[in-house]
Amino acid sequence: MLHAYEVVIGLEIHAQISSKTKMFCSCSTDSFGKPPNSNVCPICMGFPGMLPATNKECVEKGIRAALALNCEIPSFSKFDRKNYFYPDLPKGYQISQFDQAVSGKGFIEVEGGRRIGITRLHLEDDAGKLTHTSRGTLCDYNRSGAPLMEIVSEPDMRSVAEASAYAQEVRRILRYVGSSDCDMEKGMMRFDLNVSLRPVGQDEFGTKVEVKNLNSFRSLERALEYEIRRQEEMLENGQKIAQETRGWDDDKAETVSQRGKEQAHDYRYFPEPDLPPVEVEESRVLEYKKELPELPRLRRARFVSEYGLSEHDALFLAEEPERADYFEEVIRVSGDMKKAASFVTTILFGALKRDQRSLSESPISARQLGTLVKRIVEGKLSTNQAKGEVFEAMYSTGKDPDAVIDELGLSVVSDAGAIDELCKKVIEAHPGPVADVQGGKEQAIGFLVGQVMKESRGTAQPPVVQERLRALLGL
Ligand code: ADP
Ligand code: ZN
Ligand code: MG
Repeated sequence: MLHAYEVVIGLEIHAQISSKTKMFCSCSTDSFGKPPNSNVCPICMGFPGMLPATNKECVEKGIRAALALNCEIPSFSKFDRKNYFYPDLPKGYQISQFDQAVSGKGFIEVEGGRRIGITRLHLEDDAGKLTHTSRGTLCDYNRSGAPLMEIVSEPDMRSVAEASAYAQEVRRILRYVGSSDCDMEKGMMRFDLNVSLRPVGQDEFGTKVEVKNLNSFRSLERALEYEIRRQEEMLENGQKIAQETRGWDDDKAETVSQRGKEQAHDYRYFPEPDLPPVEVEESRVLEYKKELPELPRLRRARFVSEYGLSEHDALFLAEEPERADYFEEVIRVSGDMKKAASFVTTILFGALKRDQRSLSESPISARQLGTLVKRIVEGKLSTNQAKGEVFEAMYSTGKDPDAVIDELGLSVVSDAGAIDELCKKVIEAHPGPVADVQGGKEQAIGFLVGQVMKESRGTAQPPVVQERLRALLGL
C-alpha cells in the first residue's frame, strides 16, 4: 500500500425487545417452531382499516436501554411511517421513528476506555421473512410486527476490534437491563455496518458503504475486514468508492453490492396518524434511572477491585447478569472468592461447555456449588476430590454436596483424631523412612506424608498431615 488509511466505522444495531407480544398488536412474539403465518392478525398483516396500539412495555424497555446507554430521554417522541414496498412488508410501510425518537444522544465506553458516541435509540416494528426457493418465494409473516429497537452509533470506531467490542458491550448492556435477550441464534440481534476509509491525517470522512444484516460477531468482523480491504484496494487503484448498500455472503466470504444508497426522502416519512405520541414525564425518567441495575462495566470493575480478579476473568464472569449473580452467590456461600472464581470459571463452565449447556440448564445451583467450595475451605474435602468425583456426581444427579460425600463414602479424614490414627499406622509400617527423618533427613517426610494421603484416599490436607507427623515423631 502506498498510503496509510484510517478506518471509520459506525454501527446500526437492531435488537428485538423482550416482550410477550408484538409492537402494535397482541400476537405472540414467540413463533419459534410454529407453522408459517399462524402467528398473525389483521394488524401485523397490514389489512386495510386495522388499528395498531402501542405496546407500553416495549416503550418502557426501550427507554431503560437508552438510559443504560447514557442517552438523553426527550419528554416527547412519536412514530412515523417509513414507506417502501417489499413483499415481506404487507403494510407497505414500516412503523419507525424519524425525527423525534424515544431517545437522544448517549455513549458507552469500550475496552481500553474509549468512548463511542450513540446517536440515538429508536423503536420500530420488524418485517416478515422471505424464503427463496427454486419454485418461487415463500412469505412467512409470523415475525411481522415484532418489536425492535435500533441503536445508531456515531462514526466513532477506528478498528474492527473496536467495532466488535462495541457491539458486544451493547449486547451485554441490553441483557443486563432486561430489554432484549439478544439471542443471536434466534436472530434477535442484527448489525448493519457503515465503513469508510480516509487518508491518515485527513479530517473529512471518506464515502461510506453500508453492509446490511449481519447476525453474528464473527460475520461482523469478517465482513468489516473484507470491506476494509476492498475499499483500500480501490482507493489505491485510484477508484472512487460508490455510496451503496451491500450484503454479506458468508459462504463466499465477501460483500456483494445490493443497491445504491437510498436517502431519507426516498421513504416519504410522515407521522403515523393511528398512534398517539409517546410522552414521558421527567419524574418517570428519573425513576427508570434509579431502577437501572449495576451495568457490566461497573460490575467488571468491582470484580477486579473487590475480588482481585484479572480483567480477563472479570470479563468472563460478568458477561451476563445471571452468571455474575451465580458467581457472587458462590462467594457468599463459600466465603472464598479465589476458589469460587476457579470453580465457576473452570470446573462448572468447563462441564457446561462440554455438554453445550447454558448456565440456566446447570444441574448445580449456586448454593450447591458454594457449599461444595465451603467444604474444601473447612478442610472436609480435598480440592482434588471436590473438583473430581464429588463435582461429577453433583453434576450428573443434581444432589447436594453433603449427600454426595456421604454416598461416595468420602466423609473426609479431617478431624485430628482420625488423621493421627493414619499417621501412627504409617509410622509403624515404615520404620526405615521414620529413622531417616529422625536422623535429620528432612526430605524423607515427603514419603510419609504421601503414604498418609494414600491411606486417606486423598482426602486429608497435606500440610495438616505433615504437621501431625512431625508432632508424633517429636520433631
Ligand atoms: P444514512 O443517512 O446514510 O443512513 P446516517 O448519517 O444515518 O447515514 O448514518 C448511518 C450510520 O453510518 C451511523 O451509524 C453513522 O455513524 C455511520 N456513518 C456515517 N458516516 C460515516 C462514514 N463516513 N464512515 C463510516 N460510518 C459512517
Ligand atoms: Zn398481530
Ligand atoms: Mg440511517
